[in-house]
Amino acid sequence: MPTPYNMAFACLSCRKSFKREFNLAEEKPKELKCPECGGVAHNLGRHFKAPKKNNLKQWQKIAFLLEHGFRFQKICIEENSIETVPYPETLEAAKEFVVKYKNYAIK
Ligand SMILES: [Zn+2]
Repeated sequence: MPTPYNMAFACLSCRKSFKREFNLAEEKPKELKCPECGGVAHNLGRHFKAPKKNNLKQWQKIAFLLEHGFRFQKICIEENSIETVPYPETLEAAKEFVVKYKNYAIK
C-alpha cells in the first residue's frame, strides 16, 4: 500500500487552507474547489503553513508568489545539495525573490 500524505490547499479569497490526502502515486491536482466559497484553492504542497486569516500582508505575499510560479516547492540551488532556499518572509522580500529565482518558477 502506498503511504498517503497530506497536501495543503489554500483559497486566497477565504484566506483559509485545508488539507487533502493523496497517495504518492496518484496525480496531485494543482487546484481544487474551495469548500467554503467554491472558488479556486491552490495546491501549496506539503510544507505550507497558512498565516492567520487577518494577516493580509502574508496572504498578499502568498498570492504574489503564486502569480509568479512559486507554490512553496523546494528550491535547491546546488545540485546534489539538500539545502533549500528559504521562502521570503515579507511581500517586499518576495519581490526580490521572484526575480532572483525566476528560473525555478513553475510555469
Ligand atoms: Zn474560498
